[in-house]
Amino acid sequence: MNILLFGKPGAGKGTQATILAESLGVPTLATGDVLRNATREGTTLGKKAKEFMDRGDLVPDDVILGIVGEALARPEYARGAILDGVVRTVPQAEGLERVFKQMRRKLDAVLAFDIDNDEIVRRLSTRTVCNNCQTPYMGREPGEKCEKCGGTLMRRKDDEPAAIRNRLSVYESQTAPVFDWYKKNGTSLKTVKAIGSVAEVTRRALEALGRGR
Ligand code: AMP
Repeated sequence: MNILLFGKPGAGKGTQATILAESLGVPTLATGDVLRNATREGTTLGKKAKEFMDRGDLVPDDVILGIVGEALARPEYARGAILDGVVRTVPQAEGLERVFKQMRRKLDAVLAFDIDNDEIVRRLSTRTVCNNCQTPYMGREPGEKCEKCGGTLMRRKDDEPAAIRNRLSVYESQTAPVFDWYKKNGTSLKTVKAIGSVAEVTRRALEALGRGR
């Protein structure tokens, strides 16, 4: 089963990806996490991506498609993936389709998380993330310990106000058109209201996938 999570930065894709992965029994693939790990480890990929990420710009399509093709070929993804933020431009949507075709797989559904910009700014400017396992937290301060792995919480550089503004404008110009692309291409595309509690959003997401309880 391959499910793509789509939506603005801060819509809660990462949080829901982890929960859906557990519930549906397939692992997550988040290009943002792959890139942040590469940056932290100082690999060639990380060095290439860092400037784009710190500004809140998109990393070039060929880099993203390279990461995705390589990852999906690994045995852990043989049964599918919850793809979190993997497609942010129309060329990436086209590229992912090519990758799936080559692998004789298909995208089962796209979940589009819907949320307005005021809520995004409020969330991102108050969130911290674990520097090790990348779990996001609301209402916790930098320097505190991660409950999952004991790592240290920090603020992401791209959660600073100027970068948040840029990420939202990049979303409007480059990512929003992906929604219409999937609509035109006959993929199962479901909108999920992304406000309310984490559990409420999960319930809506599972319902959209026909797995509601
Ligand atoms: P995220 O953790 O999903 O918010 O991603 C953090 C940053 O990684 C983004 O602001 C981009 O700079 C980069 N990134 C992650 N996924 C993609 C993608 N599919 N296309 C381009 N850039 C990406």
